[in-house]
Amino acid sequence: MKKILILPGDGIGQEIVAEAVKVLDCLREDFGLDVEMEQALVGGSAYDEYGTPLPDETLRLAQEADAVLLGAVGGPKWESLDISVRPEKGLLGLRSGLGLFANLRPAILYPQLADASTLKPEVVSGLDIMIVRELTGGIYFGQPRGIRTLDDGMREGFNTLVYNEAEIERIGRVAFEIAKKRSGRLCSVDKANVLEVTELWREVMQRLSADYRKVELSHMYVDNAAMQLVRAPKQFDVMVTTNMFGDILSDCAAMLTGSIGMLPSASLDENGKGMYEPIHGSAPDIAGQDIANPIATILSVAMMLRYSLGHAKLAERVEAAVEQVLDDGLRTEDIWSEGTQKVGTAGMGNAIVAALRA
Ligand code: NAD
Repeated sequence: MKKILILPGDGIGQEIVAEAVKVLDCLREDFGLDVEMEQALVGGSAYDEYGTPLPDETLRLAQEADAVLLGAVGGPKWESLDISVRPEKGLLGLRSGLGLFANLRPAILYPQLADASTLKPEVVSGLDIMIVRELTGGIYFGQPRGIRTLDDGMREGFNTLVYNEAEIERIGRVAFEIAKKRSGRLCSVDKANVLEVTELWREVMQRLSADYRKVELSHMYVDNAAMQLVRAPKQFDVMVTTNMFGDILSDCAAMLTGSIGMLPSASLDENGKGMYEPIHGSAPDIAGQDIANPIATILSVAMMLRYSLGHAKLAERVEAAVEQVLDDGLRTEDIWSEGTQKVGTAGMGNAIVAALRA
C-alpha cells in the first residue's frame, strides 16, 4: 500500500487540501485506490506549534511517504520572523530534503475559461503546455555566492551558474520521457549564445535525443522563448529548462491561463516520488471564507496519481470530473463570469466528487 503525506500548511491551504482529500477518499472508496494517508504540519502552522517551519517529524514522514500533497505556506503573521524560520523555509527544506530536482508545471487553459486570460481567446484556448524546470541546481544554489567589498570599498554581488553533465542529463531524461508520452515535441530553452553552462546544456540535450528517437527536440534561446510564449504559446508542448529560466517562464505560462487557482505542479525525485502542490500561495486575503478555488490542488492529486502512484487512468478520471463541473457552469469566485454559477470551495470539491461518482 502506498503512503501519502498530507501537508495542508497555512491560509487557504487548509481549505483546498480538505477538498483534495475528499477526492482521494472517493478514489479509495469507489475506485479501489490502495493508499494510506497521514497528515502533518509545515510552514507557519508548524512554527506556531514547534518553533520551526519544518519539524523533523514532518520531514521524516515525507521521506517515508511515496508522495506528498501540499497546500501552501506563509502569511502576514509570520512575515517578520527571521528568514531562517519563515514558512517558506519549510518548503525549501522539503524540496532539498527529498531531492526533488524536477519541477513539472503544466499550463492548461480549459476552453470553458478562455475568457479568463488577458490574451485573446483564440491565442490561448485549449493551451496545454508542460514546463519541466530543474529545481535543485543552477544559479539559485551555485557556489560561490555572496556580497563582498572590494579594495576600493565598492560592494559587489555575485552568484554562480553551474550545471554538471549529470544534472543536465537527469532533468533532460525526465523531460524526454514526458514528451514521449505526450505529443513527442520537446523544446529545450537555454542561452547558449552567451552562457557556456547552457552551451553544455544544449550539447547534453542533443546527445540524449539519440535515446529518444521518437521525440522531436528543438532548442530556443530564453529571450525568444519568453516572446514566443506570449505571441503563439500553442506552438509548445513540453519545454525543459534551467532553474532560473524555468522559474520565470513557468510563471509567465501560468498567467497565460489567467487563473492561478487552476494550476497544479509536481516536484519529483530520481525514483518518481513527488511532492504535489498548487502553484499559488496561501492567499491570506481570502482564507477562511470558503471562496478559494480548490481545483489546482485537486489537479495536483491527478498529477500524483499519474507520476507517483502509477494510476494514469484514475488521473484521467479526476481531470474529466473537473472538466465536467466546468462544463456544468460551476465556478469559484476567481473564475466566475456572467452566466455561470458561483460555488464556494467546499461546493466545488463536492461537485467534483459527485462528477467522479457519476
Ligand atoms: P497568492 O498566490 O497566495 O495570492 C495571489 C492572489 O491570488 C491573491 O489575490 C489570492 O487571493 C489569489 N489566489 C491564490 N490562490 C487562489 C485560489 N486557490 N483561489 C482563488 N484565488 C486565489 O500569492 P501572494 O499573495 O503573493 O502570497 C501570499 C502568501 O503565500 C505569502 O506568504 C507567500 O510567501 C506565500 N506563497 C506560498 C507559496 C507556496 O506555498 N508554494 C507560493 C507562493 C506564495
